[in-house]
Amino acid sequence: MKHNFGAGPCILPQEVFQEAAKAVLDFNNTGLSILEISHRSKEFEEVVAETESLVRELLNVPEDYSVLFLQGGASQQFAMVPMNLLPEGGKAAYLDTGVWASKAAKEAKNFGQIEIVASSKDSNYTYVPKNFEIPSDATYFHFTSNNTIYGTEVFEKPKTTIPTVVDMSSDILSREINVAEYDLIYAGAQKNMGPAGVTLVIVKNDLLGKSGRTIPTIFNYQEHAKAGSMYNTPPVYSIYVSMLNLRWLKAKGGIKVIEQENIIKARTLYDEIERNSFFTGTAAVEDRSRMNVTFVMDTPELEAEFLALAKQRNLIGIKGHRSVGGFRASIYNALSITSINALVDTMREFEESHK
Ligand code: PLP
Repeated sequence: MKHNFGAGPCILPQEVFQEAAKAVLDFNNTGLSILEISHRSKEFEEVVAETESLVRELLNVPEDYSVLFLQGGASQQFAMVPMNLLPEGGKAAYLDTGVWASKAAKEAKNFGQIEIVASSKDSNYTYVPKNFEIPSDATYFHFTSNNTIYGTEVFEKPKTTIPTVVDMSSDILSREINVAEYDLIYAGAQKNMGPAGVTLVIVKNDLLGKSGRTIPTIFNYQEHAKAGSMYNTPPVYSIYVSMLNLRWLKAKGGIKVIEQENIIKARTLYDEIERNSFFTGTAAVEDRSRMNVTFVMDTPELEAEFLALAKQRNLIGIKGHRSVGGFRASIYNALSITSINALVDTMREFEESHK
């Protein structure tokens, strides 16, 4: 058994991959591939409707929010958010907690004045800034809830009275959230929802149509909402596989159940990092992510040796991102506690053999 600790794209349960593979050859006994049926067919309309209804049910999305399935990844949202929300000459506030957060802010600068309310760049983003003011005259406040590269996570929404936009690409569907606290949530699907190619947007309808800008149709949330995510050809397969994965999550007991598993998985791994004299976590303890666990070795010259042992033990994708170094174990919903135990056992084995 391979244990995939890769940061993405798209770590899904085996049974979801198996069902997804079947539909490539024969979708629901139609004798046709899911890839070839018309996206305007009744069958595919049912797929989109079920995917939306599963998102609404699992995340408890209020009625007055639209749920959209778009293309272009989270990176496209970096531009679509200000394009749709920020009036000409308007101001938005951004929290800088990593590469993705700063890319979002950089893109927004094309559309207005961007105020960085706080940044942890000076410490290579090892923590999430806590004490900052969010200007009340900004149109919206943007932050990234899970910093995939640095292994930090924001569990509580920063307090503000202005609309809040959040990039939840790498922790959506991993823990309970109160959607009503946010005005716009976006997430590239490819961590916990489904394959790359579809991007989830959950937006409060009230927020839209107020910027006064001319927005190209393809980038206009209102147009996508009006068209039920079918303004143009949608990423049919990515939506279909997301639906299968959301069914899996629901059958498992939903987000409450997966959150408990994720807490135990993360705790098991962080406990070993703390206990094992060869490894040290890189993120501030109070901000440690439950999705991406980053750690280094106190003796970096042994890192290659540990990676080789990990490979022998079928642990895939634990090499750290180049901007942090060391190791990163991404432990998304689909990764079971068995895989975490395999990594912990390997860390112990390494320690034993170097005593
Ligand atoms: N935001 C976060 C938190 C991410 O982790 C990533 C990619 O890993 C992105 C944005 C960029 O997503 P995409 O590749 O879908 O544009």
